[in-house]
Amino acid sequence: MSTLVYLFEEGNRSMKGLLGGKGANLAEMTNLGLPVPPGFTITTAACNLYFKEAEKMSPDLIKQIRIAILSLEEKMNRKFDDHENPLLVSVRSGSVFSMPGMMDTILNLGLNDDSVQSLAKQLNDQRFAYDCYRRLIQMFGEVVKEIPKAKFENALEKLKKAKNVQNDTDLTATDLMALTETFKEIYQQYTKEAFPQQAEDQLLLAVEAVFKSWFNPRAKIYRDLHQISESLGTAVNIQAMVFGNAGETSGTGVAFTRNPATGEKKLFGEFLLNAQGEDVVAGIRTPEPIADLKAKMPAVYQQFEKLAAQLEKHYQDVQDIEFTIENGKLYLLQTRNGKRTAQAAIQIVVDMVNEGLITKEEAILSIDAPLISKLLHPIFDEVNEKKTPLIATGLPASPGAASGKVYFDAVSAKAAAEQGEKVILVRSETSPEDIEGMVVSEAIVTSRGGMTSHAAVVARGMGTCCVAGCGQLIVHEQEKVIFYDQGEIHEGEVISVDGGTGKLYLGEIPTQVAGENPAFKEFLQWLPAFSDLKVRANADTPRDIQTALDFGASGIGLVRTEHMFFEGKRLFNMRKLILAKDFVERKGPLANLLKIQTQDFEAIFRATKEHAVTIRLLDPPLHEFLPKTEDEIVTVAGQMGIRPDQLSARIGELEEVNPMLGHRGCRLAVTYPEIYEMQVEAMIKSAITVSKEGHQITPEIMVPLIGSKKELQVIKASLIKKIEEVLTVERVTLNYTIGTMIEIPRACVTADQIAEEADFFSFGTNDLTQLTYGFSRDDIAKFVGEYLGKGILPQDPFQSLDIEGVGSLIRIAVEKGRQTKPNLKIGVCGEVGGDPASIAFFKEVGLNYVSCSPYRVPIALLACSHATL
Ligand code: ADP
Ligand code: MG
Ligand code: MG
Repeated sequence: MSTLVYLFEEGNRSMKGLLGGKGANLAEMTNLGLPVPPGFTITTAACNLYFKEAEKMSPDLIKQIRIAILSLEEKMNRKFDDHENPLLVSVRSGSVFSMPGMMDTILNLGLNDDSVQSLAKQLNDQRFAYDCYRRLIQMFGEVVKEIPKAKFENALEKLKKAKNVQNDTDLTATDLMALTETFKEIYQQYTKEAFPQQAEDQLLLAVEAVFKSWFNPRAKIYRDLHQISESLGTAVNIQAMVFGNAGETSGTGVAFTRNPATGEKKLFGEFLLNAQGEDVVAGIRTPEPIADLKAKMPAVYQQFEKLAAQLEKHYQDVQDIEFTIENGKLYLLQTRNGKRTAQAAIQIVVDMVNEGLITKEEAILSIDAPLISKLLHPIFDEVNEKKTPLIATGLPASPGAASGKVYFDAVSAKAAAEQGEKVILVRSETSPEDIEGMVVSEAIVTSRGGMTSHAAVVARGMGTCCVAGCGQLIVHEQEKVIFYDQGEIHEGEVISVDGGTGKLYLGEIPTQVAGENPAFKEFLQWLPAFSDLKVRANADTPRDIQTALDFGASGIGLVRTEHMFFEGKRLFNMRKLILAKDFVERKGPLANLLKIQTQDFEAIFRATKEHAVTIRLLDPPLHEFLPKTEDEIVTVAGQMGIRPDQLSARIGELEEVNPMLGHRGCRLAVTYPEIYEMQVEAMIKSAITVSKEGHQITPEIMVPLIGSKKELQVIKASLIKKIEEVLTVERVTLNYTIGTMIEIPRACVTADQIAEEADFFSFGTNDLTQLTYGFSRDDIAKFVGEYLGKGILPQDPFQSLDIEGVGSLIRIAVEKGRQTKPNLKIGVCGEVGGDPASIAFFKEVGLNYVSCSPYRVPIALLACSHATL
């Protein structure tokens, strides 16, 4: 005979699986000696057995319930169906996870035509007794027999009208007596049986109803939605009643031990005097703030405060407590960990660490990484968001939320922003020339491109909200119109963009910002000490570098130098360089670029100071720097002093079928060594300058797209030659390292050879994923939705590392690389560097650091410490 029923004193909080959340905590509180009305829990196993045995309560279960009732009768000195001292109980469902849709609580069970009189006599209050009885018939009828609520509510309304009163509480004892009779008739009519008069019959029917509610459609839908297993089953709690509706020194309420919105350490909740059960949340009467209980019942309030603190200390977490007061005596009816906002969550753990309630480790482990992102970026006001029409959904490329007027190009976006307008830049895709428009925009939307498209990468770097690859939009930039399923949007119309969900809305939605939060800063400061894995940032400008360092980054894992070539004078010189016929023509623009790059690097080194900084040499295909439309070609040709047809011809020569597999990265250095040489010259010169200012700079020079040892050997030789030249001329020494991106599958499997030439590795997971899966990162948005929907992909591999495939290559490369150089420094600088699931993997394979966008640094820091602790 297995135990299917546990008295509260026989359980504890670790038995959630068997007793459900409510039951396990009632048991825990009972054993702490807290004032909990006695009771017992029928286990989830009993529920599962009930379904296994064709929905029949086994004689064994019934027997165990009877024994438990006997024990309850003894404790309460009351008996089921007793004429003098009837035992009344509540029947409360309680699954492992709290689940709306499960059966509602039945209160006052055990009342019948006889015991209602006894109750009236005992409390000397007939009105109260009949109030309890009519509530029982209604609750029991509704939840056990599924009698529509309206039948009871209509009868009540009719009575109130007849008696010409407003509130339930205005009805007299006689009225309620009559109402009880009406309710019994309703019950009889609907079920063709009389309301059961035996307490045990009532109880067994109620228990069965709780079991059955596990499979009701509402509960099923909820389980599916939250991936809760059907096999868990629900427990049932039977508990002696206490009466919050026994007069003005009684009441009921709920309270949090700390404010769940702000985290403030102060009781937060409500109560109602002379009320039962869920009157507090039912909204019929307006409850009072918990603080007012202090004046009304000081002793009870003081006791509650003490118990709340005790519970919080015991559970080491904020508690959400339900209580009832019967004639001045306080009872606790439920406790659970309180739900809270992101802001409150951080405030609470920081306070609790400072109060000595929990350790820093516990605090860190209790905060989910995604929660952090809610603190860093504005979010839409939920109520208003629900009311606003949805336009379409794209990829959630960069979190945040913003409303603004639609503009289709950088120039008009900038002009509008200068007029003080809030701007949303919408394009089919962005290119480096859109930067100026992107900088002034509240949000960026593209209809093409994936999570690692230009728009997505740049937006994340700037911390600007972005929805990318929204294929449901057709964007006509020239005509300045967006077509979508239900209509069209023109320049200047207002839309709202949620970069955290990828949703676009028509019209404005107010946002909320958690803002600068001292507790959050303190929390972030704890993290590095608890992580084996360092967190660096991908940042190209002094501003982004500062943001990353402020968030606690240990250095910069990726400076993309191409971003330095994308505007104004730089772009002009870059174009001249690319369009040059020969080395002689390249000299002029190279000298100009050297000057500009030197200034850039100085600014970068002044921002990074002694922090590690990895700088990647030029990576993208050259044609990215060239004009595309005919208008642009005419303009640029004018600037260059050549004819448009000459320019077109040169562009034609540079055109490639597969540019991302073409003439880019280190391949440019093989054909035009002078570009990389110019970059390292600028780098070393500025490192010398800034080192002289007092910050010892040790640049980590990174060569992209290496596929073989020989390739790196050739390039490295030319770089070292240039660097040594500079050092000789300047008569100084400077430490520097030369390493490589590992982003080509061949580099992974020959990493032992490459390591002979490389001082460090940094995995470029964007290209590595693109080349391993063969998914073009700029086109994946077209089909990734279907792939996810059909379960072919568990997630977008550009968002979260494909551990099986790409991860295997990374594992091989780490192993081989360290065969050659046991202390080889290895990091990762792709977008997945900020993804918690990927970070756990990077920790496992033994990387030294991850590098991600500045605004993801806090999440990465948290994920790294989670992976370490
Ligand atoms: P829920 O899961 O919906 O919160 P509960 O089982 O907690 O349902 O019951 C709801 C309310 O019913 C409780 O907050 C409490 O006010 C009241 N209640 C439940 N059991 C008892 C009891 N034994 N005595 C008095 N009130 C009770
Ligand atoms: Mg409820
Ligand atoms: Mg409850």
